[in-house]
Amino acid sequence: MIITIHRGQNQIGGSIIEVSSDTTRIIFDAGFELDKQDQDAPKIEGLFYGKASYDAVIISHYHGDHIGLCDKILPEIPVYIGEAASRVIHAARSYCNKPDYCFTAYYESDKPLAIGDIVITPYLCDHSAFDAYMFHVACNGKTLLYTGDFRSNGRKNFQVMLRKIPPCDVLITEGTKLSQTETGVINRTEYNLEEDAYQLITDTGGPVFFLMAGTNIDRLVSIYKATCKAARILLMDVYLAAVSSAAGGSIPHPNTFRNIRVFMTKKDVKLHSQLQSYGEAKIGRESIAKISFVMCVRSSMRTYLDKLSSLMSFENGLLIYSMWDGYKDKEDMASFLEFIQKKGIKVVCLHVSGHADAETIDALIQKVQPSAIIPVHTINSKWFDRYQDIRIERSQIYSF
Ligand SMILES: [Zn+2]
Ligand SMILES: [Zn+2]
Repeated sequence: MIITIHRGQNQIGGSIIEVSSDTTRIIFDAGFELDKQDQDAPKIEGLFYGKASYDAVIISHYHGDHIGLCDKILPEIPVYIGEAASRVIHAARSYCNKPDYCFTAYYESDKPLAIGDIVITPYLCDHSAFDAYMFHVACNGKTLLYTGDFRSNGRKNFQVMLRKIPPCDVLITEGTKLSQTETGVINRTEYNLEEDAYQLITDTGGPVFFLMAGTNIDRLVSIYKATCKAARILLMDVYLAAVSSAAGGSIPHPNTFRNIRVFMTKKDVKLHSQLQSYGEAKIGRESIAKISFVMCVRSSMRTYLDKLSSLMSFENGLLIYSMWDGYKDKEDMASFLEFIQKKGIKVVCLHVSGHADAETIDALIQKVQPSAIIPVHTINSKWFDRYQDIRIERSQIYSF
């Protein structure tokens, strides 16, 4: 087996990882580099240009740094993703009037998928993206595990997943959190966040606004549970309603869950017809002004919130910022938070990481017992040198 890390070593995001045998070539993830939109694809012949020479592209999850180059893959190459992940990303892109990604087929957790002489077994894992996977790969008696992005502090039981994962010769693992100065810090969990959010909501007399990434479905579950416990109504705009409905099943969405109402932030024919589809769950601005709520918001909702503030008092209001701290430095976010504070709303941060902490990576290594580790999605691969009896591979091409 030959592993080629086309991109993703010594950087966070933008991973493109090739696994090849004598007869089969597979790519895992094809993402944007973070903070760069509409990028050109790197010059990988047979994948993005020239005659197609890859047998499949396997996408681990829908974050842009793993999926962003999907529409630049040569159309002859089959692209695989989880089915629920595909529904969520299509709902999100449809709202933004972006074309659908063309997925060829869906893989399923725990079910081996044979492509040529390579067998890939996906394992559903916990991450801040919904329906994310790691992959065990076998070929000619050799094995590897590619983790994608994962964590142990979400709502899925990490130990249950860990028990399923077979040993491997080579581990390609993310190490996002290892790049932070406090590498010894253990992640707080989504359950901690839910409890803290509940406390904050019950301690607040005025309206509560909750700022999160719409596709962070675990976080939506946390705020829904905290909101219900605090006997308030959870308000979602049409975008979040579409994304949560696409996730479906046990994920809180307006079609079947109590205590959820859907609102529209701007006049638009398409959005209006979507809003109508939520029937009894839809709500207008005048009605919102009269109820006790937690409203999921984004930085683009400034004009809407300004209008809402003319109908109701924002006094003793609270905004819970539930995203990575670094986004606060972006211009639109900084100006939105300034606007919120000028309205007299207090801002507090409540976030837990979507990535594995050091203890979690140690547990994975202990379980799969690799003879070599290839760190990716990290800027601190040196952290792995503590494993003196495991080869830490930093070259771009590794054959075993
Ligand atoms: Zn990532
Ligand atoms: Zn991710």
